[in-house]
Amino acid sequence: MPRGVVPRQPARTGRQDKVRVGRTAAVGKNARVGTGAPARPGRGKTSAGVSKERQKAPKSETAPSAQKTAAQNATAQLKGYNPIAPERVAQILQRLDQLYPDVTCALTHSSAWELLVATILSAQSTDANVNRVTPELFRKYPTVQAFAALTPEQLEPDVRSTGFFRNKSKSVVGAAKKVVADFGGQVPDDMEKLLTLPGVARKTANVVLGSWFKKAEGVVVDTHVHRISRRLELTTENDPQKIEQDLMKIIPREKWILFSHQIIWHGRKLCIARKPKCADCALENLCHAGDKTWSTVDMHKDAQL
Ligand code: SF4
Repeated sequence: MPRGVVPRQPARTGRQDKVRVGRTAAVGKNARVGTGAPARPGRGKTSAGVSKERQKAPKSETAPSAQKTAAQNATAQLKGYNPIAPERVAQILQRLDQLYPDVTCALTHSSAWELLVATILSAQSTDANVNRVTPELFRKYPTVQAFAALTPEQLEPDVRSTGFFRNKSKSVVGAAKKVVADFGGQVPDDMEKLLTLPGVARKTANVVLGSWFKKAEGVVVDTHVHRISRRLELTTENDPQKIEQDLMKIIPREKWILFSHQIIWHGRKLCIARKPKCADCALENLCHAGDKTWSTVDMHKDAQL
């Protein structure tokens, strides 16, 4: 039995009993639909379509050699389960396309500079919260030069409600000064140059490059991408940079920008941190997250936060 594989846990709500009616055929053939990974045999009708009567049958009813062969086959199939198999990744991407075909960045902005500021302010905050602050902020300071003329202390009251306002003020004013001094007042469309700006790490740089300049230099790894990539077993890493590297290896480059937006929207709508809405999720039978709230497939304890 592979490491980290645990039996499916029933939802506490018992909700799966209602929803499973329409899915029994799909999951009752001893296979995880669309995952390429089989459900384990002998785990009751809820996980593998095996009737209770058959479960209760004495072992002697089945020839030992047949039992051994079935167990060996199941083990071999489970060993072959690869969560980052290209077919599985393609299925995940296809379903995300169906769910979120036209999603874009939710931060309100009308220039690369405004997007940069909004992204810096969005750390440890919500996009909605940032969107409440930025319209007035950009009215008050309409250009990067206007921000560069400030001291961090002057900016603090304007961004206070986004949290961590002292650090954010320092980053925004520092970035403005550097953009004016070193890049002629234009936000650079280059990863290396962006990373020289105060308060800008790969996540912020990827947001600006992807959403404004339409350049796929990497994958945005924010809290949603971090959590859901692990739940979907696209990575086992915890460090955002390593997660990004893993995602860049398995997701086609032309999908990097859209994938981030789709996962971020999925994280807001369904795959929320606490109590994800798995019964409503179109990725459900591809997902083995150990903290699912409803499941038709085995859950893997490593595939979680
Ligand atoms: S099934 Fe649940 S845990 Fe898995 S992706 Fe969907 S909402 Fe998230």
